[in-house]
Amino acid sequence: MMPAAAPLSASERRMRRFIASYQAEDNRPLCAYLYDLAELRRHVKRVMACLPPGCEMFYAMKANANPRLLREIGAHVHGIETASIGEVRKARGIREDIPVLFGGPGKTDGELAEAIRLQVRHLHVESLHELRRVEHIAASLGRRASVLLRVNLRGALPAATLQMGGRPTQFGLDEQLIGQAAELLRGSAHVQVEGFHLHSVSNQLDAQAHLQLMEHYIAKVKEWSHAFNLPVRTVNVGGGIGVNYRDLDSPFEWEAFCEQLGKLLQEKGDPAWKLVFECGRFLVAGCGAYAAEVLDVKENHGEVFAIVRGGTHHFRLPASWQHNHPFVIVARREWPYPFPRTGAVRRAVTIAGQLCTPKDVLARQVPVEEIRIGDVVLFRHAGAYGWEISHHEFLSHPHPEMICLEEDSE
Ligand SMILES: *Cc1c(COP(=O)(O)O)cnc(C)c1O
Repeated sequence: MMPAAAPLSASERRMRRFIASYQAEDNRPLCAYLYDLAELRRHVKRVMACLPPGCEMFYAMKANANPRLLREIGAHVHGIETASIGEVRKARGIREDIPVLFGGPGKTDGELAEAIRLQVRHLHVESLHELRRVEHIAASLGRRASVLLRVNLRGALPAATLQMGGRPTQFGLDEQLIGQAAELLRGSAHVQVEGFHLHSVSNQLDAQAHLQLMEHYIAKVKEWSHAFNLPVRTVNVGGGIGVNYRDLDSPFEWEAFCEQLGKLLQEKGDPAWKLVFECGRFLVAGCGAYAAEVLDVKENHGEVFAIVRGGTHHFRLPASWQHNHPFVIVARREWPYPFPRTGAVRRAVTIAGQLCTPKDVLARQVPVEEIRIGDVVLFRHAGAYGWEISHHEFLSHPHPEMICLEEDSE
């Protein structure tokens, strides 16, 4: 059963208050992303305050590019990591001088040229061909480009879901090609290499495992720098700090991680290096929730289904990860119809959306105390890779409202 007595966070209280006031004023079923800007500010400030000396935190925009969120985050982080020219432009829309990193596989000549003209801080180069093209394009523009070599490591990596490296993937330069890249760089008058980029894991939940990964990266970068005579000023260790959707009360131990990272850098790092993080999920997941009102509750073949206003076309994350997304039910008191209200008490319930596919499920067979038509299912930690990765136009349902909540006055 869901715990009933846990104290509500300030952020959840704000969201519940918004839902109650919405439902009191508007009789259209609620369907909205709720972004708590005060919670976002609190979290990002804490993340930044823990960073050891010599470290920087960039925000990986693809996790959530909502303009209000971007403006808020942009005020606290060292810069923005982007993976398309569209994102580069949005980043520069936050503030003209905000430092921007530009990575991702398959950059076109046009994208590279614009990024060089816009003076992004680093291009993350993903292949030898791309390195040759950056030199060619920078030369034709009469400019210089600063690059990091994105490397796909050989050998096993500490456990995490969704690995981008340490195995065959479309990302980065095979570790065995660094020598060839160094050779090309020596003949490139318009490309300045600043170091390496290593984004290998996603949703890492274990701070100790992540520290081991950092130690592995540090050793590798020293080895390459020495072997290929490459100067290193920046080591970009990627993002991938996770969010524990299974147990929101046991988050990644960022403070402890930073403390130990500081020691690790003192012992094994190099004072000439800047260590750069580019986190998406960890920065924004917690400030967002997807709120969807229950339109119907019914029993089919002995199982209970609650159909909500919305679904995976707004919030594809649970379907994409095949997990039950954590939620709470915000009960509604009023009932507008002259006939009885349907619901289920102390049952396992499947939360489904409005789409005509059995895959439109946000959580499956989760025990609840009570769920009734008119209640709102509040999916927590939906601020990253929620709206952004969803197929919004499938079935042409209306989009959710995007609501930004601020600190309340009380
Ligand atoms: C997606 C991505 C990130 C951010 O990943 P999170 O898991 O959201 O922290 C950082 N760097 C690169 C290269 C990425 O592709």
